[in-house]
Amino acid sequence: MATQRTFSIIKPDATRRNLTGAINAKIEAAGLRIVGQKRIHMSKAQAEAFYAVHAERPFYNDLVSFMISGPVVVQVLEGENAVAAYRQVMGATNPADADAGTIRKEFAESIEANSVHGSNSDENAVIEIGHFFTEEEIVG
Ligand code: GDP
Repeated sequence: MATQRTFSIIKPDATRRNLTGAINAKIEAAGLRIVGQKRIHMSKAQAEAFYAVHAERPFYNDLVSFMISGPVVVQVLEGENAVAAYRQVMGATNPADADAGTIRKEFAESIEANSVHGSNSDENAVIEIGHFFTEEEIVG
């Protein structure tokens, strides 16, 4: 499988608990390279646009409020089969269902405050990276 990119967010529950380094250690240990990175405080409009696909879900407003409740770290990850590799390191959406050793099993607080985001397809990775990065900001 060729080198791919995926998009990652370290969410506010994790930045609040000073877990940025611990999470990135797991990402790097899985063979993924962090080729773009910035710490930002998302605006409401940014969070709404990013999660527009979930606009009809009952938890949408709570999710947007959570994502703007503190700083996040947005990242571009690169590696073999990066989308699937990172989803595996993240673990299941609900930490109660996540495998041992995954980021969400070790660090997530709840199904909402689950510490990280990762793209679920190549197509969405391209779209999500484009929300936050220009090509010049990605340095392999
Ligand atoms: P992901 O791809 O594993 O992040 O999961 P989804 O795309 O299904 O959901 C996006 C995000 O919405 C999750 O990472 C959670 O932060 C949040 N979320 C998902 N399901 C629920 C839920 O049932 N309740 C709440 N409050 N938040 C949820």
